[in-house]
Amino acid sequence: MIQGRGRSMRQRIEDGERSFSFEFFPPKDAEGEEQLWRAITELEPYDPTFVSVTYGAGGSSRDTTVRITGRIARETSLVPVGHLTCVGHTRDELEAILDSYAEAGVANVLALRGDPEDGPRADWTPTEGGLSYASELVELASRRGDFAVAVAAFSLGHPSAASLEEDARVLLAKQQAGAEFAITDMVFSADDYAGLLERSAAVGVDIPLLPGIMPILNLRQVSRMAELSGHPVPDAVRARLTPYEHDPAGLRAEGIAMAAELCEALLDAGAPGLHFYTLNRSRATREIFSALRISV
Ligand code: FAD
Repeated sequence: MIQGRGRSMRQRIEDGERSFSFEFFPPKDAEGEEQLWRAITELEPYDPTFVSVTYGAGGSSRDTTVRITGRIARETSLVPVGHLTCVGHTRDELEAILDSYAEAGVANVLALRGDPEDGPRADWTPTEGGLSYASELVELASRRGDFAVAVAAFSLGHPSAASLEEDARVLLAKQQAGAEFAITDMVFSADDYAGLLERSAAVGVDIPLLPGIMPILNLRQVSRMAELSGHPVPDAVRARLTPYEHDPAGLRAEGIAMAAELCEALLDAGAPGLHFYTLNRSRATREIFSALRISV
């Protein structure tokens, strides 16, 4: 169960309360860190169930993730979830990072395989002495210390999954290894998310699956991110935003309105909560909350 201050996510959900969570990434420099802390401070009053911080592909950003999540644990009322990937790490290194999280007061991790250097669809080669799949990291983290572990899920299936059913079985394997909830990639359609719920339930997945929301404020940027992840922005979404191609303010307003509609549709489809990809800024999330009539 996700560990933190007050009630757990599962308790909140069981009480009929929706879960809200926010994702950040490790900033590159002092200016970025200032921006991140501004976003954290502005979003803290919404009392999210947790906030998570991504884990980079390599280099110093990885230490930053542990440092930032530790600072969130120490200096705010928020419950941090630290991401961790298998990329480039031996099992011993992964254990040492889990210990660093525990020492920093971070009791929740999002266990991921991570992507090959050449992108999500490139062939995956595990690091020598490391782990092959996220399910193994879930097991490692569950056994080491007292972590509550979350995992990734994919509304249209992972791009290199053999089939959608196989994708659902991978999620089940992560649940069986000890995962307590999952967060999805960027969702653009409530039907896609409903499909994930249906496929997952059919194979026995019963952990909460939180849909990931990324409001489109810059069509080119989000299109690139979506394409990299293997699932392009749907034509219907693109068609609504294209008229604002040369009108950034109009595009922003429409992007927020669409995200708010999507949130409502996801909750109607049975989502136990909403996970917002914030890009280390709070304004868009606050605007969506305002459109949903959620206040601090
Ligand atoms: P896995 O569950 O291991 O799956 C990876 C692939 O292997 C899939 O195709 C799956 O079908 C296949 N597979 C799994 N188990 C088996 C098996 N036993 N036998 C055969 N095939 C198998 N990346 C980062 O680098 N840093 C982050 O912080 C980060 N955060 C993320 C947060 C979320 C919410 C999401 C959705 C993704 C995030 N990612 C992050 C990206 C993620 O690392 C990639 O999508 C990666 O390709 C898959 O990771 P996974 O944990 O789902 O891997």
